[in-house]
Amino acid sequence: MSPRWYADHDLTAANTLGLPCRAERFVAPMTPAELGEALALAREGGWPTLVLGGGSNLILPAFLTGLVIRPAMNDWWLVESGDGSVRVHAEAGVVWHELVMALAARDLWGLENLALIPGHCGAAPIQNIGAYGVELAERLEAVHLVHLDDGREAVLGPQACAFGYRDSVFKHALAGRVAITRLVMRVSRTPEPRLGYGDLAGRVTESPTALEVAEAVCAVRREKLPDPAVLGNAGSFFKNPVVSSERAASLREAYPDMPSFPLDDGRTKLAAGWLIDRCGLKGWRDGAFGVHDRQALVLVHHGGGDAAGLLAFAARVADTVERRFGVALEREPRLATG
Ligand SMILES: Cc1cc2nc3c(=O)[nH]c(=O)nc-3n(C[C@H](O)[C@H](O)[C@H](O)COP(=O)(O)OP(=O)(O)OC[C@H]3O[C@@H](n4cnc5c(N)ncnc54)[C@H](O)[C@@H]3O)c2cc1C
Repeated sequence: MSPRWYADHDLTAANTLGLPCRAERFVAPMTPAELGEALALAREGGWPTLVLGGGSNLILPAFLTGLVIRPAMNDWWLVESGDGSVRVHAEAGVVWHELVMALAARDLWGLENLALIPGHCGAAPIQNIGAYGVELAERLEAVHLVHLDDGREAVLGPQACAFGYRDSVFKHALAGRVAITRLVMRVSRTPEPRLGYGDLAGRVTESPTALEVAEAVCAVRREKLPDPAVLGNAGSFFKNPVVSSERAASLREAYPDMPSFPLDDGRTKLAAGWLIDRCGLKGWRDGAFGVHDRQALVLVHHGGGDAAGLLAFAARVADTVERRFGVALEREPRLATG
């Protein structure tokens, strides 16, 4: 069966920032065959193509020309291996948080610290999602994908994905050039609690189940982060900046309480939220946009704004930080163009 096509489709509710956006064409293929068909038509028509997931890490402009494809293949299954580990196969349209909770409920360990991250499985490798001391890269075994330009299918292993902090090959050589169709991840039946971040350890029993850990993660996140269903946002708007150890040392001299995290490569990661907060911007609002009053790393949309307004607001936040600390902030969500 052919997928249903939509013209001049409203994507305002399809992005967690709630920015007004219309797509010239929109399709949500429910099978790999439907996806192949949509991509073939896009190639024939020469339409620029954007692959959309849950819209939680994107800044959408008022109008997107060409085609927006939101993969709606949403099956997942488990493959047992003899050594106690289990492979999870998850199609691109599976909602990430629902998968994490379903695995945790089966006491399968490995992804529980990544509970409540919004979005779909297909987008998870793009920025190598991470939270509470765990990154997808640790668990990912394969990414199945289709190249947009010729429909060629491929499977990438973790090496080829070139994962880094909020980074992967999908933000560089393969940016905007592939549709991810399926992930294969490794989880384990052996308890592997990772409780070193936040106050997770204090929220669970001595020998917690994976579900207990996942629920503790959800509770911490709900306390700290605004719910996009209530207040538009894209999570962390800026990446934590990485600076030379010399630069970090001189900043620490001026600001002894500044959090900093030494990295394996000798550089130092700073906390973007702390830098913004220290500029007095936490809770600052100007018109449609604001800095969240509990988490300065999150920019929020109060309604009535658009992508241009958000970018201007974000630039003022970044400029203020740069003038005060000499540290440049880099945006985390991708700006879609069309
Ligand atoms: C409240 C909140 C909290 C968040 N917390 C975290 C966090 O703790 N850690 C973290 O890492 N992130 C976090 N995020 C960011 C976001 O949830 C993740 O980046 C998530 O993986 C994005 O998924 P998505 O389906 O919404 O992607 P989208 O926003 O739809 O797309 C993001 C990018 O991926 C591309 N893409 C989407 N699907 C595919 C596909 N199938 N094939 C190829 N490309 C694709 C898009 O073109 C775009 O470039 C948070 C966001 C919010 C709103």
